[in-house]
Amino acid sequence: MTAVLGADPPAAVHAGPPGALAAQHTAAAEKLAEEGRWEQAYGHLRVAVRLLHGQCATVGGAHGPATPDELDRLRREHAEAREQSRRDSLTASYNRRYLDERLAALLDDLDDLDDPTVRTTGICVALVDIDHFKQVNDTYGHLFGDRVLQRLVSELDAGLPEGAFCARYGGEEFALVLPGRDLAEAVDICEAARHRIYRHPWLELHSALRVTVSIGVAHSAGRRAEVERLIGEADELLYTAKQAGRNAVAFRAERSGRVLLAGAAGRRRSIPQPARTTG
Ligand code: GH3
Ligand code: MG
Ligand code: MG
Repeated sequence: MTAVLGADPPAAVHAGPPGALAAQHTAAAEKLAEEGRWEQAYGHLRVAVRLLHGQCATVGGAHGPATPDELDRLRREHAEAREQSRRDSLTASYNRRYLDERLAALLDDLDDLDDPTVRTTGICVALVDIDHFKQVNDTYGHLFGDRVLQRLVSELDAGLPEGAFCARYGGEEFALVLPGRDLAEAVDICEAARHRIYRHPWLELHSALRVTVSIGVAHSAGRRAEVERLIGEADELLYTAKQAGRNAVAFRAERSGRVLLAGAAGRRRSIPQPARTTG
């Protein structure tokens, strides 16, 4: 594989069945495309295709260099494949791998910034979990539950500001990542999302269907390797929102350290006070 990858143009390969060799060339092409080395990537893909069609593969540019159209197509296909690999297949939201990678990169960027105002604005992460979703599946079936998840993601996406994204954290839990937002702004965005989901015309799916979510929102101003702490804090606050009666957004007030619920829920419910998690 190393010999195949390093070659420019693609090396003649002397051993192995054509299918395996084609796979090696395809892998080499993907790696080169990741690095933006389109000409070399194209050469490897062409060899792979010829191998799969039972033709001689000991070529190096036997058909001349790739045309601009061919390179454009390769770039486009690669960009599409990369986007697909970042998405959850059911809901089309970003997947857990993208969440982990992007969040780590955003937190690293915060650490690298010298501007104190940007640093104090920081980043917020919210965890969103559907209330009593098991009952939805039990009552209407798993496929119906899948459609609820798809509609939920549309509602979550609809209210996201520039630069923010939604990712499927797992099962019926989603993460909202809100870069450049302070806690008050993030709480407003999440409370609006909770309300939008509460008001969504779920009866279009079934006349008796009601869907609500609980949300925990955490804030970070930076500091390396904080992904786990940030997600952990959001998860704990989500749990508090559940304990406080669900259909609510929980966050920790920055000055007092007390856990509060956003909007009207905060005035009418008693709220458990979990201990603050440390680094
Ligand atoms: P709570 O309010 O405490 O969150 O209750 P809940 O019923 O939502 O929580 P629980 O963890 O008991 O159930 C989560 C359910 O989510 C169970 C699981 O089958 C369902 N679920 C997870 N992933 C999917 C999915 O991709 N499709 C469907 N239809 N259901 C899913
Ligand atoms: Mg859950
Ligand atoms: Mg749930």
